[in-house]
Formats: sequence, C-alpha cells, structure tokens
Amino acid sequence: MSLRASLHTLGCRLNQAETAIIANSLRQAGFQIVDFGEPSDVTVINTCTVTEQADAKCRQAVRKTLRKNPDTFVAVIGCYAQMAVDTISAIDGVDLIIGNEHKMNLVDFLDSGTKLEQPLVVHSPKISREEFTIETVGLYDNATRANLKIQDGCNFVCSFCIIPTARGPARSRKPDDIIKEARALVEMGHRELVLTGVNIGTYAGEGKNFADVLDALENIDGLERIRISSIEPTTIAEQVIRKMAESDKLCNHLHIPIQSGDDGILKAMRRKYTVRDFTEFIEFAHDTVPGIGIGTDVMVGFPGEGREQFINTKKILGDLPISYFHVFTYSDRQGTSSVKMDNKVDPQEKKKRNRILIEQGKRKKTTFYRQHIGSRADVLFEQKDENGYWRGYTTNYMEVKMQSDEDLHNCVRCVQLEEIDGNYLIGRPVG
Ligand code: SF4
Repeated sequence: MSLRASLHTLGCRLNQAETAIIANSLRQAGFQIVDFGEPSDVTVINTCTVTEQADAKCRQAVRKTLRKNPDTFVAVIGCYAQMAVDTISAIDGVDLIIGNEHKMNLVDFLDSGTKLEQPLVVHSPKISREEFTIETVGLYDNATRANLKIQDGCNFVCSFCIIPTARGPARSRKPDDIIKEARALVEMGHRELVLTGVNIGTYAGEGKNFADVLDALENIDGLERIRISSIEPTTIAEQVIRKMAESDKLCNHLHIPIQSGDDGILKAMRRKYTVRDFTEFIEFAHDTVPGIGIGTDVMVGFPGEGREQFINTKKILGDLPISYFHVFTYSDRQGTSSVKMDNKVDPQEKKKRNRILIEQGKRKKTTFYRQHIGSRADVLFEQKDENGYWRGYTTNYMEVKMQSDEDLHNCVRCVQLEEIDGNYLIGRPVG
C-alpha cells in the first residue's frame, strides 16, 4: 500500500502555488495525497513568516499536527523554516526542516518517511538569484482556478517587510517553463490561471517582461481567464492596463497595495510612490478598463501614523474607485528596519483604526456591487454551498451566488445580477 501524505499551507497565494506543486511531486513519487487532518504517514507544513503572529500560527499548526498524529513524519518548509530553524528544531517530533532554497525538492529528503530522532535540516542562508524552472505541474483537487508561479523574491526594501530576507532576491521563472505548466493546467481542466509571485510586476525572465508573459499566456488555446494577483504600484506598465481593456482573457481586476495614503508614511515605509502617483494610476486604470475591480492592501498603525496621517489614508481610500480592501495592522517584525523607528502607535488605537477601515472597506465593496445590479456578467462557478447556491467569481472579482439544479462546477455562465446578499451578489441564469 502506498504511503499517505497530507499538506497544509499557511500564508499567501504563492505558498499555495508551491504546495500544489509539491503535492504533485509527492504523488509522482508514489504517495497518496489525503486531506490535511486525515491520518497520514507524512505531513508537510508550508509556512509563512510575514508577521510574528504568522510565526505563532506555524508553530501551532506543527504542534496540533503532532498531537493528533504523533507518528506522522513532519516536514516544516518555506518562509518560517527559512527564518527560524532553531525554534522549529526545538519542537519535539519535527523530522525535516527545509528553507526556501530547497523546499521544492522535498521528495529527495523524505527517504522512507520514517521518523527521525533529530530533525534533518536543509537550509541555505543565501538564496539563489538565478532564473528558475519547475519540473512539476501544480495539483489542485477539484479547483477551477489554479495558481501559476511566475516569479519569486523581491529587491524592494520596504521597511516593514521581512519577505526579501525570507524569500531572497527577485528572480523569474523561465518563460517557456511558465507556458509549459500553464498548458498542462489547462489540459487538466482549469479555466482560470492566477499569476503569482512576490513581486510579479518586476518579472524579467530571459529578457522578457511581465507584458510578454501575458501575451504568451493569451495564446494558449482553452485558457479562458488570466488573473493578475497582487502587483506592486510602479511595476505595472500602462501597456498592461490597455491590454486588460482589450483582452478577452485578461481579467479586469487588479490588486494593488497602497499601504498608506500619506506621503510621509509611504516614505518611511520606503514605498516607491507618492499618493499622487498611486491616485493617477488608479484613475487611469479605472478610466481605461470597463468595470475594473480594484482591490488594495492597507496597513494601519505604522510608526509615526498620527491622526492626520490616518485621516489622509481614510480619505484617499474613500475617494478612489477601489472595490475592496484588505486591512493589516502594523506589528514589529524582528529583522526589519521599522522595528527601530520611534513613535509607535498605541495598540488600542491601531485596533480602532483597523476596525474603521474594515467598515469603510465593506461600504466600498457594497457600493461597487450595487453599481452592477441589473447588469449581466460571466461567472466561473466553483462550488455549491450548504444552502444550495452555486458560488463563483466574475472577471472583476465580485462574488456571485446562484441557485441552480444543474452541476455548475467549473462552468462559466452569463448571469443577471439582481441583488446583494451579504458578501455576495445574487445571480439569475440568463436565457
Ligand atoms: S514590495 Fe515591499 S512589501 Fe512587497 S515583498 Fe517586496 S519588500 Fe515586501
């Protein structure tokens, strides 16, 4: 009987993309992939270190796994494994720790999956800056959308961010290798590919840029949607926005982090744009691409963010045609330069600001959804919920649910958008 392996991902979409690839490499090596939480011979935990809270969640996940399944071989890999070998080694029962440089070769270090007395540590403090290829195709059980990794690492040095240390310098996946995986994912039935990386707008594989990758992907027969995941302001060429306006495949959706709406704070964060740059770009995208959905990340409580700076952020978020926000609260991250900054914001005040922006974000989302009531949109349906509604996304990233007796999994349907129900638009079949 083949050995069972389960995988768990913490953190970002890029981690999800990498877990999917590792899952397939395990399957190719003869493992049976089972759901995380089910008894398994090997458990892989792909970790995140973006905040100290994320670190704590990783340790919790490892401990919980070992409590439930003390005999499972535990491999802790990825960003937290890159940054905290000693802490992870001290958790009794961990068998393998692999940092970011070698994690994709996990299968080579499993041996027979027999538990070890001492954890095997595969770690290189220095991460390669070479262009890369990935041998395996991501395995996404039952998913309609698949993530496609095109890039890794970051050369920007935002003062709050540990990711350039955890993931290393910016590097790009070779263009042919991207296309090879994209074709394979489409053959496996995926209709939508979401491009992922740490800083995808800086893509530079074999002299090609991000727009070239989009061109090549657009030529893949059978691929219906290409979605750009989070992309840094200042890295998106106007050409990409114009392409978005014309293309049948490139989704009219951007997720572009503002972080703050105050120039002083942006400077202290070492972001590479001013509020005006950001505003002009968002307005250009909004005016150029019909119906575009624009999401953003915003951080509250960065050192030095007083009332005035916070109000500036709130105001710009109110003014801009942004359809949803993800709100983050600043916390000190050892190893980043903002730790040493003065004027830290009171924790209660940070909580309050977080709540204010979350509420504002909800209102913005409702306003955006309301603008679409009465119109039609193509929805890629993903799954049926417990109340019998099929749920899916429009190209501009609105969540739609619709009642239907038909099996709509992985089907694109044109629907009439009728009303708002919580986080969803309710759709009705057309025709
Ligand atoms: S762009 Fe800034 S926030 Fe994003 S990964 Fe790079 S350093 Fe971190």
